[in-house]
Amino acid sequence: MQSHSFNQVEISRSALRHNFSLLKRRMPPDTPILAMVKADAYGHGMVEASQAFQEAGCCEFGVAELCEAVRLRESGITRNIYVFLGFKLFDVALFFEYNLIPVIFDIESARALSDEAVSRNTEITVHVKVDCGMTRLGIVPGELGDFVTVLCTLPGIKYGGLASHFPRSDEPDSTQTREQFARFNQLAAADAKVSEIVVHTANSGGILYFPDSSCGMVRAGIALYGYYPDGKNGILRQSGEKLQPTMTFKSRVLQVKTVDAGTGVSYGHTYTTTRETTIAVLPIGYEDGLSRCLSNKGEVLIHDKRVPIVGRICMNLCMVDVSSIEHVRAGDEVVIMGSQGNETITGDDIADLMGSISYEVLCLFGNNNERTYIE
Ligand SMILES: *Cc1c(COP(=O)(O)O)cnc(C)c1O
Repeated sequence: MQSHSFNQVEISRSALRHNFSLLKRRMPPDTPILAMVKADAYGHGMVEASQAFQEAGCCEFGVAELCEAVRLRESGITRNIYVFLGFKLFDVALFFEYNLIPVIFDIESARALSDEAVSRNTEITVHVKVDCGMTRLGIVPGELGDFVTVLCTLPGIKYGGLASHFPRSDEPDSTQTREQFARFNQLAAADAKVSEIVVHTANSGGILYFPDSSCGMVRAGIALYGYYPDGKNGILRQSGEKLQPTMTFKSRVLQVKTVDAGTGVSYGHTYTTTRETTIAVLPIGYEDGLSRCLSNKGEVLIHDKRVPIVGRICMNLCMVDVSSIEHVRAGDEVVIMGSQGNETITGDDIADLMGSISYEVLCLFGNNNERTYIE
């Protein structure tokens, strides 16, 4: 018999498919969308989310590390899988055994792939990452030409694509993004192989706010999970059909008690009641992704109403003040993220209180709790 946690993350498969289809309709017809399913699909479960995207027509999947790609391939995804963060040279054979596409940024990796391809009497497609403004992974623009020249002399290597990444495409007015895109285009145009390769740079911000940057492929992450890269501003700015949040986080009340005015709550007594107060104890804490920085700040939904988290969030427990609601009982449903009645708490609401972004909230909740899937 299986025992279930009180805390359940619910993922909507239809919302995942909806978001993929919505982005697809916004792209020129032949532009593939690579679904970024790193970080266990931003907390949604890499395998299940990839299946949902594949059902919606997705043919390209991106992960950070090789081990994720292997797991995704073993799960039965048959389409292209890209590994974005390189690999240990020792593991090079896995790209061939699992038919994966490495995104490379150093010549040692290229040589290791070439040697392995030759020894197997085969060829491998690689994409090259160039850093034109993110100052993260990638070959610096000045070295790209030489790199590609050497790459193309290596036997068994098929140069298949050139990628870059936008640091500021979540700002719809950012001139930096336009300048970077122009620089990237120049680099691609100077590449003798440009007509044979797939050129890609747009992330969700690029797709939503810089549609001209779609090139030969786009890489969508956060938008597939129903959030805008610029949070609430993105929701305000949107027109037409909306992205749908795909994750809900629910728990239940563990205990209810009424305490006198002047009672300290939780570690450090950082909250003291000012009147007789009914406290509901919830089985959720920072171990479950409810960041301790939400202590005395966060809210949850109970009986279709917002109630405040009072006192410090503990490792597995937190307390909310339910004095404004009658008849709260142990076992009542609690929504930490999602809707109850007419009230909704979004990942952006929680992120704003944490001084973070929805991306982190989804990873925290999704990757630290039991997930269930609904249509
Ligand atoms: C995560 C990631 C993306 C997706 O970014 P979003 O802002 O979530 O759309 C695209 N490209 C690369 C290289 C990434 O690491």
